[in-house]
Amino acid sequence: MKERANILLIYTGGTIGMVKDYETGALSAFDFTELQKNIPELFQLDCDITTVSFKNPIDSSNMNPTYWADIVGIIGENYADFDGFVVLHGSDTMSFTASALSFMLENLAKPVILTGSQLPIGDLRTDAKENLITAIQIASLTENGQPVIREVGLYFEYKLYRGNRTTKINAEHFQAFRSLNYPTLIESGVNLKINYPYLLSTKGEKGLHVRTEMDSRVGILKLFPGMAREFVEAVLNAKDLKVLILETYGAGNAFTDEWFIKILEDSILNGLHIVNVTQCVGGAVVMGQYQTSERLRQIQLINGKDLTTEAAVAKAMYLLGMQLPSSQFRAFFERPLRGEMQQN
Ligand code: ASP
Repeated sequence: MKERANILLIYTGGTIGMVKDYETGALSAFDFTELQKNIPELFQLDCDITTVSFKNPIDSSNMNPTYWADIVGIIGENYADFDGFVVLHGSDTMSFTASALSFMLENLAKPVILTGSQLPIGDLRTDAKENLITAIQIASLTENGQPVIREVGLYFEYKLYRGNRTTKINAEHFQAFRSLNYPTLIESGVNLKINYPYLLSTKGEKGLHVRTEMDSRVGILKLFPGMAREFVEAVLNAKDLKVLILETYGAGNAFTDEWFIKILEDSILNGLHIVNVTQCVGGAVVMGQYQTSERLRQIQLINGKDLTTEAAVAKAMYLLGMQLPSSQFRAFFERPLRGEMQQN
């Protein structure tokens, strides 16, 4: 058994590798080699680190399925040669990317850890160093020669979360992410406290299968009191829409106006998949618990249970990309594929 882990560090962009333009004050991405210069500690770690960078690093607001395909492509090509992967990414869309990667990397049995920071690496008060160094340590963890983490995780501010359970909840606190519906996988204190019962334990036998067909014909509609009929109609009649993620109130409730239920029902009959997820950051959809969700159950909305919106979007793109028949799309959507939702 070899002693030092082999880690591939993939830099996509984000604040972690940004510099300030002193004239305008705006942050923009800079060359990855600067990152290495800024953290000489990286090379003191007990692992071998190879780095690869996006040619043009991006602010994660520009993230999209083509870049996701690039990231999983890099992981796929290097899968056999590395023990773990750390993806440096802007925090703004990190939860979407973590969710997407979890679906696109089928049979993943090695760690893929996303991290970033709220302050640039060169800033005196930066959170980047701790995030990066601990993410690499987590990606290097093994027990009995096997990786401890065999899934896509997101490490930020002393916590490793299951990536597809996270949401960015704060634009300025160092603790920028939450996973309200699933426990933390690892907490970093004096020691790394590993929450073993909650880790995915995918076996490696099947081998990684990288899936890059993500179909973006997905929309999100967040309900609010007083939402105009014309607006709802415009969204539901959008050309080529295949999946609508409906962000409902509380445990999956919506207003019961006849026009609203009817347009949802007609759209479903015309082949649109409508997924019920809650706009709350924690808790699950329970269709039928209230009268205000019973109609949604009757017209056969897909139950998004405790999925985050980020995971729902990624799962929709992934399942659409598989071109499944309608009934299978629903069956796959309502069951956990990568630990992204509760079983029942
Ligand atoms: N706008 C930045 C990005 O998401 C913020 C960050 O890196 O945290 O790329």
